[in-house]
Amino acid sequence: MRFVKNSPQILSTIAIALVIIFGFVFSAQRFASVAIDAKERLTQDRITSVLDVFASFAALGASEGSLQEQVVRIKEENDTFRAFKVVRAVGDKYEIMASARPEEVGQLDLENGYIYGPTLGQPGQPYYFALSLSDGSRGYKAARAIVGPEGVIGVVYLEASLAEADRSVAKGIQISYLILAGILLFIMILFFRHARIIDYAKLYKDLEGVSKMKDDFLSMASHELRTPLTIIRGYADLIAGAVGLSEQDRKNVENISMAANQLNILVADMLDVSRIEQGKLSFNLETVATTATTKEIAETFAETAKNKGLSLIIEVPELPNIKADKDRLRQVLVNIIGNAIKYTPKGEVRVTGGLDDKKRVTLRVSDTGLGISAEEQKKLFQKFYRVKSEETKEITGTGLGLWITKTIVEQMGGEISVESIKGTGSHFILAFPPAISPTIKTEASKTV
Ligand code: ADP
Repeated sequence: MRFVKNSPQILSTIAIALVIIFGFVFSAQRFASVAIDAKERLTQDRITSVLDVFASFAALGASEGSLQEQVVRIKEENDTFRAFKVVRAVGDKYEIMASARPEEVGQLDLENGYIYGPTLGQPGQPYYFALSLSDGSRGYKAARAIVGPEGVIGVVYLEASLAEADRSVAKGIQISYLILAGILLFIMILFFRHARIIDYAKLYKDLEGVSKMKDDFLSMASHELRTPLTIIRGYADLIAGAVGLSEQDRKNVENISMAANQLNILVADMLDVSRIEQGKLSFNLETVATTATTKEIAETFAETAKNKGLSLIIEVPELPNIKADKDRLRQVLVNIIGNAIKYTPKGEVRVTGGLDDKKRVTLRVSDTGLGISAEEQKKLFQKFYRVKSEETKEITGTGLGLWITKTIVEQMGGEISVESIKGTGSHFILAFPPAISPTIKTEASKTV
């Protein structure tokens, strides 16, 4: 009951099911009564014509022998006939002249006098009785007067059963109800499927609520974490700048700073995720000088690359400007150049640029690092996806960077793709439509 209350749509399904059932039962009953009517009429017509023909034949003065012969033949040809005989009035009794049961011939028929009387009273037409026959089946008793040239000769009498007709109608109804049972089963399956779909819809609604709560919490938590983090980082910098700090204290404060920075990146990522999911990521699109901006951002990694013993090669030719949000573009480049350095134990990281075959401005960050297998590349841009291997075990990260990057790039009208061979290195390629028609000048490569 509670289920029905919670899911009012179920009522409409039940109503439809009931309408179908009642409609079906009604039409099956109508069909049955029409079929019975038709069968009864057919049987009556047959009885009438047999009585008419036989009465005419008998009226011509046929001998008793030929009457008997015809009675037997007609009975044999009509297996629904239960009795067929000819009687004549002897006083107020009726003697059997011919019968499908020859042993009756010559005997008095004491059973059907109530039919013969009225039949003789209206010699022009057949006389009918519809009733239960002696074998229990429904049927007719019918009689017709035989009127010869000198008046009434006798009565031809016939009993026909409707058992066969009733049986075939009953069979038809039985089949109809079997079909109805099948339909009911089908409706019940539909009904349960419907109920399940409603359940899923409810679940989906609940999940949406939970997801919104999660987004709100994420947004609130990351905002709230920002202030204390800024304070920690501020104090850590202050202490690091103090004079007379012991080597150990300096190391300790550096560790605090590093941890706070990592936390800061995580909080920033969480904030971006919640903004993206709430559709609140805003872009301030402007014309960006692609080459200058890329170089400027790439160069900020010089120190990090050097500390790790990597060559950072920046080879960006003079590229057309693009339309982008400069801060978001910075975020994208910081993420993919940062990743290239992070996931490259030795060798080089190269930042290059050009135009692709669609005349889009491309920026390519290549490394000689861990590389990513084809299988891993398929999931690379999914939220929280991180390649799990012995080499990446020690490298910290959230698995959010590439998902955020891809979303930002696409929302600025660009595209990000990856080409990589496991164990050899990776290329991350950004492609943006140019802000003006593209021309390209090459510039000498520069190693930082
Ligand atoms: P994070 O670096 O925080 O784990 P990202 O979303 O930036 O998250 O990257 C997802 C995963 O992709 C990383 O965990 C890493 O396994 C893989 N990856 C990204 N960039 C590179 C790269 N240049 N070389 C090898 N693997 C990379």
